[in-house]
Amino acid sequence: MDAKSPVEKMEYKAEMKQLLQLIIHSLYTHPEVFLRELISNASDALNKARYRELTDDTILDKGKDLEIKIAVDPKEMTFSIQDNGIGMTHEDLTENIGTVARSGTLEFLKKMKEEGKNVGDLIGQFGVGFYSVFMVSDEVTIETRHADKDSQGYRWVSTGEGNYTIEAIDRNERGTRISFKLKETAKDFAEDYHVKQVIKKYSNFADFPIFVGNDKINTVEALWRKNENEIKDEERNAFYKFITNDFEDPLGSLHLSVESAGAEFKALLFIPKKAPFELIRTHQHKTIQLYTKKIMIMDDCKELLPEYLQFIRGVVDTSDLPLNVSREVVQNSPVMTKIKSALTTKVLQWLQRMANKDSAEYLGFYKSFGPIFKMGINTDFVNRDKLIDLLRFENSLQSAGEMTSLKDYVGRMRENQKEIYYLAGESRQQAEGNPNLEYFKKHGLEVLFLVEPVDIFIVPSIGEYDKKPLKAIDKDDIELENADKKDEDALSKSLIVFLKETLKDQVEDVKVSKRLVDSAVTLVSGTKGMDRQMERMMKIMGQDVGQSKRIMEVNIDHPIIQNLSRRYLANPADEFVKKCVVQLYESAQLMDGELTSKTDYVKRMIQIMEEATK
Ligand code: ADP
Repeated sequence: MDAKSPVEKMEYKAEMKQLLQLIIHSLYTHPEVFLRELISNASDALNKARYRELTDDTILDKGKDLEIKIAVDPKEMTFSIQDNGIGMTHEDLTENIGTVARSGTLEFLKKMKEEGKNVGDLIGQFGVGFYSVFMVSDEVTIETRHADKDSQGYRWVSTGEGNYTIEAIDRNERGTRISFKLKETAKDFAEDYHVKQVIKKYSNFADFPIFVGNDKINTVEALWRKNENEIKDEERNAFYKFITNDFEDPLGSLHLSVESAGAEFKALLFIPKKAPFELIRTHQHKTIQLYTKKIMIMDDCKELLPEYLQFIRGVVDTSDLPLNVSREVVQNSPVMTKIKSALTTKVLQWLQRMANKDSAEYLGFYKSFGPIFKMGINTDFVNRDKLIDLLRFENSLQSAGEMTSLKDYVGRMRENQKEIYYLAGESRQQAEGNPNLEYFKKHGLEVLFLVEPVDIFIVPSIGEYDKKPLKAIDKDDIELENADKKDEDALSKSLIVFLKETLKDQVEDVKVSKRLVDSAVTLVSGTKGMDRQMERMMKIMGQDVGQSKRIMEVNIDHPIIQNLSRRYLANPADEFVKKCVVQLYESAQLMDGELTSKTDYVKRMIQIMEEATK
């Protein structure tokens, strides 16, 4: 190798620069994150090398012990970590180190920072963990050589300020060495004992031995292969933190040893307390590590669980998969299908147990993962009924924050009640203010509130539960038992005719309401045109289907309606009555979040107030 090979000066991509700024200028409650990240990267690289060794005889340094070596020097305040894993090519260095791999990461971290979260603590969950090293150092050097036998070694150096350099170097061994001088604020990491302590805490479960100086620090053991009762809670939690980079304990864990026809596996699964929702939604979130015969073959195997359960983390270990085949073959193997189906069943049973045992814990889970989890109802028809039983809703009889299952709802149904009522809204507050609820409130009938956008994708499709149809209460054709029968008197009859005429372009019909108690008017879904749930759904999916006409219902006992009727009868050409009618209609629209021109609405209101205060 030519020792005088040129030093290439490279610039980080714009997004990367911003990200580095964000990291360097963030506060860290856990500066030790960097150590965990570097060990985790080294461990990944070793896993890749081990996997490659199975099929490639020409790989560099084949058969050498796989290990991670850390060296510190308290006098020089230096730190280095070295692995003999897969190493990096020139392209890896520019593509994997110089860029933000997952789109949206920067935006997401910015938002977290604005919300006052500690970006440094989250960084490991976002696939940019390497850069946490700039929390403890001003300049970092990577020396690396890829495991291909005729690969070239490289040195990469960066201050994290926007540029980095790459040059070719002579390097005999495969793998990566990362070294740097520690900042004054991070000088503890130049001390053996401190580094050992941190590793014991966070990285004890690495798949490979970690040496600090000459001492091996960790116990390399596969926790999931032990018997469940041999594992202490602390061990389990530490393992979870190790594989997820989470700082919090998990919400719960599930240890499985399954031996069924065609799928034999062990698994140790976790539900995080919280997880970055955005990342799960966009599939940028890691899920499950797949091992076979003690070798990790995939560090993020999304084929093991259906999409709606991909917030679950952990390890699955089977001996039924061949080692020496490509990942594609693994992903499509019938064994995987069997494991997936068995895992799904077990996970749903686990959730049901949690729901039965500790509803507060279950609601914690539901708040974090409900929006993802519920989507299963529309995709997993095999487990649909189980999923429906796991649904929870806020409702008109319980206070905010409390939630009910459909089963409990049915248990509370009135003797004559035939349907399960629900009402969609943007928030609980909006749902509670909906005039269509008045009848149900008055008669103590329970109404489920659908306040999460995903609810309206799934609830109408459930159709019925326990033979009771689910029914939106803002529909025209709802049957109301013992509703206060109101007869149209001559007075209101003529006003209704006038309303129909005035609003003929806006509404499908105007009717006397049986459901209103306190409000003057309300809007319900008409019989023609699209169902309003459907309309909202389409809007959420970005399709503008316009707005189909509603039916306006009028509470003829309401003082405003009575006054208007009288005024109308006295003078059918009264402009003021007309103004009030339009205002009433638009008020109902406003309540529903469907008013388009607030300016007209407010202008008219001012005119009406002027008139009233004359
Ligand atoms: P992540 O590990 O989540 O992908 P990082 O920012 O920590 O994100 O690392 C970026 C990439 O750099 C890794 O995906 C890997 O390709 C490469 N890399 C980092 N450290 C090493 C290492 N020790 N050996 C080989 N490749 C590495």
